[in-house]
Amino acid sequence: LLKIDSVSASYGKLKVLQEVSLELHRGRTLALVGESGSGKSTTARVVAGLLPPTGGEVLLDGQPLQPSFRQRSRDFLRQIQIIYQNADTALNPRQRVRDIIGRPIEFYLGLKGARRNDKVDELMHRMELDPAKFGDRLPSELSGGQKQRIGIARALAAEPRIIICDEVTSALDQLVAEGILRLLKEIQEVTGVSYLFITHDLAAVRAISHDCAVMQGGRVVEQGNVRDVLRRPEQTYTKTLLASVP
Ligand code: ATP
Ligand code: MG
Repeated sequence: LLKIDSVSASYGKLKVLQEVSLELHRGRTLALVGESGSGKSTTARVVAGLLPPTGGEVLLDGQPLQPSFRQRSRDFLRQIQIIYQNADTALNPRQRVRDIIGRPIEFYLGLKGARRNDKVDELMHRMELDPAKFGDRLPSELSGGQKQRIGIARALAAEPRIIICDEVTSALDQLVAEGILRLLKEIQEVTGVSYLFITHDLAAVRAISHDCAVMQGGRVVEQGNVRDVLRRPEQTYTKTLLASVP
């Protein structure tokens, strides 16, 4: 479905990604782990077209994506959505929940009026949030976990084929994080969406992922079936990483 083919990227003179290659399959979850600064979020930025790569390319169904999101067609933009760690910065503080979810429904699906509102309600119900109770709230009137669920509903509004989750559970306490993971799994079962799941939480990796790639210093140093990578890590670095977390 999505292929990241030998992608390199820099911030100015600083080389951050070096020939990163990853493959994400339909209906599956690829966990991307690695220490802070290893290039996980930068990889997400390249896929999303927020940072044009200096080398390599990203392909969707074998078709190269334009390096910048500005050059991508609405349909390509629709297919890849991102959810960030910090829902505070990701949600417009002046928009009410109904609008946060409704705008992408209008933009990507072209639904208006009652059909748009029905779709907002449906997505809120799917995220286990009562539209009558939460629809008119501002992000500041929601808990961390509720904000994150609105962020997920907004991503789902585009009916994407791929969702990039960048540390979506990292700011939440364990029970809330488990709830989010359960919802993400249910969504995958129903819609067949694929996740590129960026995290440093190996419990979350075990709970949700099929495949796992490990990054270090801007490179992918190990990649494979999640059980193999976590049980029989081949790289010394992965062993160290596994030993360093509970
Ligand atoms: P974390 O686990 O802390 O989120 P990460 O793996 O997501 O880390 P990146 O955010 O991809 O790491 O950062 C990779 C490298 O690029 C780091 O050395 C970082 O300092 C640098 N970097 C990230 N964003 C920028 C930026 N906007 N300008 C310059 N350098 C940046
Ligand atoms: Mg990051």
